[in-house]
Amino acid sequence: MGLTGLMPAFGAAIVNVVVVGGGMAGTTAAKYLKLWGAASGLDVRVTLIDANAAYVSCILSNKVLTGETTLAALTYRYTKLAGLGVTVVQGQVAAVDKANRVVRLADGRTYPYARLILAPGIDFDYSALTIAARGLTADQALAAVPHAWKAGPQTTELRRQLVALTNGNRVVMTIPAAPYRCPPGPYERACAIAGWLKANRPKSKLIVLDANAKIIAEPVNFGKAFSETYRTIIEYYPGVTLKGVTWDSATPKLKTVSLLDAGGAAVTMPAEVVNLIPPQKAGRVAIDTLGPTGLSANGRWALVDEISYESKVFPGIHVIGDAINSKQPKAGHIGNQEAKICADAILRLESGRAPYAAPVTNSACFTPITPTTATWLTAVYRYQTDIDPATGQSLGTKSMQMVSGNPVGVASETPTGASGDNADAMKKWFASLMVDTFG
Ligand SMILES: Cc1cc2nc3c(=O)[nH]c(=O)nc-3n(C[C@H](O)[C@H](O)[C@H](O)COP(=O)(O)OP(=O)(O)OC[C@H]3O[C@@H](n4cnc5c(N)ncnc54)[C@H](O)[C@@H]3O)c2cc1C
Repeated sequence: MGLTGLMPAFGAAIVNVVVVGGGMAGTTAAKYLKLWGAASGLDVRVTLIDANAAYVSCILSNKVLTGETTLAALTYRYTKLAGLGVTVVQGQVAAVDKANRVVRLADGRTYPYARLILAPGIDFDYSALTIAARGLTADQALAAVPHAWKAGPQTTELRRQLVALTNGNRVVMTIPAAPYRCPPGPYERACAIAGWLKANRPKSKLIVLDANAKIIAEPVNFGKAFSETYRTIIEYYPGVTLKGVTWDSATPKLKTVSLLDAGGAAVTMPAEVVNLIPPQKAGRVAIDTLGPTGLSANGRWALVDEISYESKVFPGIHVIGDAINSKQPKAGHIGNQEAKICADAILRLESGRAPYAAPVTNSACFTPITPTTATWLTAVYRYQTDIDPATGQSLGTKSMQMVSGNPVGVASETPTGASGDNADAMKKWFASLMVDTFG
């Protein structure tokens, strides 16, 4: 019922929504709250806050590494959103005062809310790793083994290191244990880097160290790409526990990667380029705001009821996108859909109605295999009763669960493998997703 909980005698009730994070999920939520809010009879006032003036898409950023596209071509501005009447603010959110429902920026500006949507994406967890270089500070050492898992300066740095690679020296990339941002993304990246090496540094190898027991997305397509298309370049090792990377800043091309192999034996290997994708957790503002009670048992992801994406613990705070604990993948396409369900639920709740009872989402993801071909995977999720797999009995809760796939519960992947037609479809899919989000 608006900011004060009262319906005004004249005019529409004011609903003040602040969205933190102008990425794939947050931007979509702000846009659709404004669009649908206009038809809802409410006066919905939306403020979108992001640390940056523009958004750089992670989707397709692996093609920046190969020189096929640029970060500039993947940059999206908030101009259209502002045109719709969303108040766009550039600033770093430092804290949320839950008791008084106020968002505070690092520079002291404050924004009151009736409902808050947190969509901060992910942060990285290096706590179990030793990354140290003699002569470098801890931050400099981390930047020298870039994750490039948020598109931006680290993407540029990884591209620079690949271009400087000595033909014959190794590139190592590491994949964290799931869940992490974009399940097929690291395997897609392995194909992108391997394709570039094959054409430009054919004596070099790409060593893929996967913390997971097997390829966790599109196992058939990526298995084929690794063992056939890039047989001479990629060596894939599942079940690896990464321990760290050490080197001397005087000899940056001589890095030592330390790990435990699948059998638990300690191994070290030399590498010139290390693309270290660390374990992940929700963006810091979500972790700080929700605290241990509002997070999953491992303290990494926001606990939400996926009927509305409202926190299971803190009423009025919704969390969407990669930051949530969910069976849905951490993907931009899904974040876009979670945002619409959240926006719709907020409008219904503020109008005194219940959220739509059976929301459905679809995850579609295209993955380039070579510069001219791509594959895809897809799955559908529905909000339904959680079942205990051991007993088959209802757990008394509901969440988004995969209801399609081949077999059901396993996302479908391209039956015919990588093709040029899929690469064309990928361009159309990406363009329409970004127009739906930022346009
Ligand atoms: C290499 C790669 C390839 C990918 N390919 C695909 C793909 O093909 N298909 C797909 O669907 N997904 C893909 N993804 C995943 C997709 O990019 C993410 O799932 C998606 O961006 C998540 O959306 P989000 O809104 O949760 O987070 P983000 O898009 O990261 O947005 C978070 C925003 O919050 C802002 N923010 C965070 N904290 C604060 C704060 N305290 N104050 C102010 N602002 C803040 C950030 O600046 C950022 O703009 C890929 C990811 C990678 C890395």
